[in-house]
Amino acid sequence: MATYQQQLESIGFRFDTATYNGYNKINGICFTVNIDANNKDYIVSAACRPQQEEAVDSMRQAIAHFAGERTKIIKTAAFNGKEIMIIWHLGDLLPDITKCVRESVDFISYCISQFGCVSCCASCGRENYCDIYVIENHITALCQDCFVNTQNTMAGNMYREKQIKTNYPLGVLGAVLGGLAGAVIWILFSMMGKIAIVAGGLAGMGGYFGFKVLGKKMTFKGLVISLVVSLVFLVGGMYVAMGIDMFNAFKEYGVGFSEAFELIPYYLSDPDSTGEIIYNHIFGFLTFILGAVCCVAQYFQEKKVKNRMIKLM
Ligand SMILES: [Zn+2]
Repeated sequence: MATYQQQLESIGFRFDTATYNGYNKINGICFTVNIDANNKDYIVSAACRPQQEEAVDSMRQAIAHFAGERTKIIKTAAFNGKEIMIIWHLGDLLPDITKCVRESVDFISYCISQFGCVSCCASCGRENYCDIYVIENHITALCQDCFVNTQNTMAGNMYREKQIKTNYPLGVLGAVLGGLAGAVIWILFSMMGKIAIVAGGLAGMGGYFGFKVLGKKMTFKGLVISLVVSLVFLVGGMYVAMGIDMFNAFKEYGVGFSEAFELIPYYLSDPDSTGEIIYNHIFGFLTFILGAVCCVAQYFQEKKVKNRMIKLM
């Protein structure tokens, strides 16, 4: 099956690999396909508006009709005065996006000729010559003025961000709280005789987000710290759960709570229990790795698109 990029390119769209979004200029009108990965939505937009104000209502009716015929796959379709926007919601199916984009382009092209639309800026709405830009993770059509304004805003943001310093003590506290949440869930499930497979992932991601929220700003050092801290807490949680298990198994022989923990090294080094130990913990570690990989990917994706503003077309 063709990749998303190949699908978009097969219908004449260009592709921005950093954001996974597509764009094209058709008859002077800027078209964009922005992907909303969280909601699995594909947003096809065209920056244009009817030259005659009277045509707006009938164009809105035509858009509503177009969406009404495809209620299962179109979430919304609308015209906001400067952009026709069609949001395709294709769910978990690996969709053939070419069909959706092609249908969108055909329909919007129909609107353009039927309602006398002209190219306009997607930000200020003025009829103007526009270019396609990528602004962080979004592709949009802007006029020269709006481009300059956005650039200035971004420079201001970058300056302010540079002023923010990562608060490492609070960040570590956040990572501890996140890791602790995973550890506590592991222990509680273990006490009920169950394996909390998700606790590993929860510890990893909890540590990362805990650091990010309390530490104010995520850095590479913060990423490493948060993952190490949450792993330590996860392993600690597993150790405590094992001790509680030991206590419950041997309390009738008069073994006390702290003595039960002293038995753990013997249990761990006993070849007969190796299989059981691996089985009981491997899924917790696997979900931790999965969560950690997600955090690392998110960190680098955010870094990649942060304050990015490039003219594409
Ligand atoms: Zn503008």
